[in-house]
Amino acid sequence: MRVHEHVKLSTAAAVIVAPWLKTDTWIPFAASVLIDVDHYLWHAITYRTLSLRAAVRYFGQADPPQSSEARLLHHPIILVTLLFLAIRLHSRLLALILSGLLFHVCLDAIHVSRVNHLKWTLSQQAHHTCSECGQQYAALQLHTIYVARNLLDRYNPEHFVVLCPTCHELAHGS
Ligand SMILES: [Zn+2]
Ligand SMILES: [Zn+2]
Ligand SMILES: [Zn+2]
Repeated sequence: MRVHEHVKLSTAAAVIVAPWLKTDTWIPFAASVLIDVDHYLWHAITYRTLSLRAAVRYFGQADPPQSSEARLLHHPIILVTLLFLAIRLHSRLLALILSGLLFHVCLDAIHVSRVNHLKWTLSQQAHHTCSECGQQYAALQLHTIYVARNLLDRYNPEHFVVLCPTCHELAHGS
């Protein structure tokens, strides 16, 4: 899920919980937005560049490599450790941070399952044929042609096409 979508959904969640958390609302909000900083840090270390632009370009590739090192803060071990510490230390701060992280990770998981489902259905419908070059390909890739502002419309099959890796690369290059 894209950063601006996380910001939008986290803002909505923050508005809902604000009456209970009051001034602490910003803590889970910040955690749920800043968790993706792990992608940036991983890119900065791996490619020895602090450029945010380069990181955005890297993760905006047609089919960016999905390494778990790039998603360190999303890792269950980190989340379970935080849960353990929050209980052990009776820390409200840690519990709030953890709830923000969990909110984000859940959204990511929903996103991945929706995207995989779309990829599967659209590939079946297209008989595993690339919609650009017409070549048959066993593992087509899902390409977003339109990111709907309305989240209810976000996973509408009309906003996606399945492409072979070559055409997908070209689609992102232009
Ligand atoms: Zn994420
Ligand atoms: Zn193609
Ligand atoms: Zn794409």
